[in-house]
Amino acid sequence: MISVEEALSHIFDLVTPVDVETVPLAQAAGRVLAAPVRAKRTQPPFPASAMDGYALNGTEAEPHAMFKVIGTAAAGHGFDGHVGPGQAVRIFTGAPVPEGATRVIIQEDVTARGDMITLGDALDAGPHIRPAGNDFAEGATVEPPRRLTPADLSLLAAMNIPEVPVRRRPVVAIIATGDELVMPGEEPGPDQIIASNSFGLKALVEAEGAEARLLPIARDTKASLETVFGLAEGADLILTSGGASIGDHDLVGDVAAGLGMEQSFYKVRMRPGKPLMAGRMGTAAMIGLPGNPVSSLVCGHVFVRPALRAMLGLGAAPAPRHKAPLAAPIGANGPREHYMRAKITPEGLSVFDRQDSAMLSVLAEADALVIRPPHDGPRDAGETVEYLTL
Ligand code: AMP
Ligand code: MG
Repeated sequence: MISVEEALSHIFDLVTPVDVETVPLAQAAGRVLAAPVRAKRTQPPFPASAMDGYALNGTEAEPHAMFKVIGTAAAGHGFDGHVGPGQAVRIFTGAPVPEGATRVIIQEDVTARGDMITLGDALDAGPHIRPAGNDFAEGATVEPPRRLTPADLSLLAAMNIPEVPVRRRPVVAIIATGDELVMPGEEPGPDQIIASNSFGLKALVEAEGAEARLLPIARDTKASLETVFGLAEGADLILTSGGASIGDHDLVGDVAAGLGMEQSFYKVRMRPGKPLMAGRMGTAAMIGLPGNPVSSLVCGHVFVRPALRAMLGLGAAPAPRHKAPLAAPIGANGPREHYMRAKITPEGLSVFDRQDSAMLSVLAEADALVIRPPHDGPRDAGETVEYLTL
């Protein structure tokens, strides 16, 4: 058995960043930028008014000074002329500041009568003008790799970039295995249960930016598994769940090996999730997840998500760990790294009493996995522990 860290490093050896494709900006949310992008514009492209008011020469701005209003500048409709001595232009936010004007007096500080204005007796400092290039200059870059956020998309749009180079979505084939499984909505026989793992895994890989392919349930026969593995053709990553512990019906490893899978490891010193395997299958990486529903999703967070991030060009790094105090004491840990379901509360991390790797109801209540190192001693309330967010 190997450690979680070793297993993850083997998995990183199995994956490489996927190709780059170009997508319209409107489809780029959450995608991973794959090449530097350069601004095609300077923003603002001209000195722009930051307020509604009057543009004039700042050296003339004195309390009670009077100006003649010679025109209007609004957003999208600049004023063409020059602002000379004693003159002002009515201006609105976003309008180009006309030539000759160096300051905008906010309208609250002005009294207007006909085409004349008089400044008030206390003027704020101003100048309420955003210089050209205040935000960014033409040629400014947005650097990869970067998962594009809403703010990034607004920025790229402002840079006049209509489409962006991103990593294509890794294709993940998801295979559930077991004679006992039927799909949700079907009528299970007396010895059957509903196949649940694939649905959580699909959501998990999609949240990371992959495209999931839910394959039919493979039965616990060589022929059925071979058929379903065949349907995974073309995937970048193949995930199986179940059939991976030593038992008569645990065929996944054997069948995959028969189909040419080169196994990197089998079994990891962790809880839940011990019967994890991974290897290379043709051009795809294969991760054989445990069948227990909690184990399969915990391994999804600990191994599959980091693998997908590496495939998206975001680098080979474990799931980010955070630190927080425990809300209540917990007992000593055994020899395996334990990922304990917990809730984040104002008092700290509250670890659930029931940690059964088949209990989805507890996992669904949890929003964190507290990580216990092997042989970690008992911990008191208030002690700081590491955790992953779910
Ligand atoms: P296995 O590794 O195939 O022995 O599976 C371990 C446990 O997980 C068994 O109780 C299975 O019934 C259960 N299990 C396996 N696959 C799934 C699945 N896709 N959905 C729900 N439970 C599963
Ligand atoms: Mg099984």
